[in-house]
Amino acid sequence: MVTSTRVRHSTLAPVVAAQWALWTFAVVNVVIVEVLFSTGAAGKNGTLSVAKFFGLQAALLMVFQLLLVARIPWLDRRIGMDRLTLWHRWIGFTLLWTILTHATLVVLGYARLDDAPMLKTFFALSGVPASLLGMLAAAVIIVIAVVSTRPLRRRLRYETWHGLHLLLYTALGMAFVHQLMETTTFTSSAFATVYWWALWLFAFGALLIGRIIVPVRRNAYHRFHVAAVVPESDDVVSVHVTGRHLEQLPARAGQFFVWRFPGHNHWWLANPFSLSAAPDGHTLRLSAKAVGATSGGLRHLPVGTRAFLEGPYGALTSLHRTRPGVLLIAGGMGITPIRALLEEEPAGDIVVLYRVRTETNAVLGDEVRELVDARGGRLHLLTGQSREGALPFEPDNLRALVPDITERDVYVCGPPAMTSAVLDSLRRLKVPVRQVHAEKFSLA
Ligand SMILES: Cc1cc2nc3c(=O)[nH]c(=O)nc-3n(C[C@H](O)[C@H](O)[C@H](O)COP(=O)(O)OP(=O)(O)OC[C@H]3O[C@@H](n4cnc5c(N)ncnc54)[C@H](O)[C@@H]3O)c2cc1C
Repeated sequence: MVTSTRVRHSTLAPVVAAQWALWTFAVVNVVIVEVLFSTGAAGKNGTLSVAKFFGLQAALLMVFQLLLVARIPWLDRRIGMDRLTLWHRWIGFTLLWTILTHATLVVLGYARLDDAPMLKTFFALSGVPASLLGMLAAAVIIVIAVVSTRPLRRRLRYETWHGLHLLLYTALGMAFVHQLMETTTFTSSAFATVYWWALWLFAFGALLIGRIIVPVRRNAYHRFHVAAVVPESDDVVSVHVTGRHLEQLPARAGQFFVWRFPGHNHWWLANPFSLSAAPDGHTLRLSAKAVGATSGGLRHLPVGTRAFLEGPYGALTSLHRTRPGVLLIAGGMGITPIRALLEEEPAGDIVVLYRVRTETNAVLGDEVRELVDARGGRLHLLTGQSREGALPFEPDNLRALVPDITERDVYVCGPPAMTSAVLDSLRRLKVPVRQVHAEKFSLA
């Protein structure tokens, strides 16, 4: 029997509510900024007025950027960090072009005003503190945009790229002071001044709370430490972490944390791993495949090692359930959140598709089988080489395995290529978008 208590019947799905909130915030602020622009003082010539317009749009984009990476739990639980970072990536490139346009028009505008060559005007402006701050902020943003392009990003170690990315906060700070000193729109009226300060304080405040205050408070309170390290196979290990009052941690099956083991690894090494078991109020479990130094070293963690956790993050949870029947699709290590979700499922209409190279490669295979059996569900182990990755997930194959697929919620987690292939098939099978919930194990 399937209980209907976990199925949400609210008219507004959580993800839709969050998207509406974001869009409303964006539209309201765009309108206010355009009104402030059109009612404020014009630039010293037409070109400088247009430059000012682009400068204001850049300021707004920076605020959105901060909000998207602030890890606000309400947004993250509904939209998911992968999607939020993807939007952050696209807004980042839009910001780059907006800033370049603003900077070029400023130089051109002053060059016209002074009837001087652009290069001379550029150097003259660099002697003005407010302009210099703007130039430095733009330079940092350009460097970060260049290293974030796919070819360069692939070549850089994650930590190097991430370290460079942190410079962005310095750039945003410089851009904020640049605006305070430079723009008349900030001070054109009492409303304008209050509005701009409120907007920036809100964005920096959200970042401070989401990225620093919440994680530091949570770790100080829960005092996470390693309770057990259990090898699952030659290259997969499970780490059980315990702490004080874990029942108060708002974690759900399907979510992930960013884990640090400071006494064992360098403090700057932080890796995302999903919970491989539903949180039970006493322990949190991750299961990791050794792909690099950090994941490979987890099996040598001494029991008692302190852990620093950021999270829980992610939207691959039962919060988004819309139907009684569920199809859970996992590829390789993508089984970790799927296994945790399975544990939360009541007995009933459950199908699990688990893509593995061979049966013996099925990480946590026995646990998954037991959970499926206990719930009267169906498990299909789809074995084969990874180069045939998409094959079992072709629309016809999926429909043959799960004829009522369009009637189910579908949860998908696996390597990016496999997840994309599955999502493509679900689109072709016309599974309604609101029933599809996916995580790619890669952050943009
Ligand atoms: C949301 C999410 C959940 C994940 N859950 C699991 C899981 O349950 N089990 C599992 O085995 N793997 C999981 N992964 C993958 C896991 O994070 C990487 O395999 C691990 O971080 C590799 O670290 P490394 O230093 O050992 O290897 P490296 O060789 O340094 O890194 C290997 C790859 O992991 C990426 N990576 C490294 N550090 C980070 C980081 N801090 N943030 C994002 N990407 C990083 C690198 O870009 C690289 O592509 C998950 C990834 C994400 C994004």
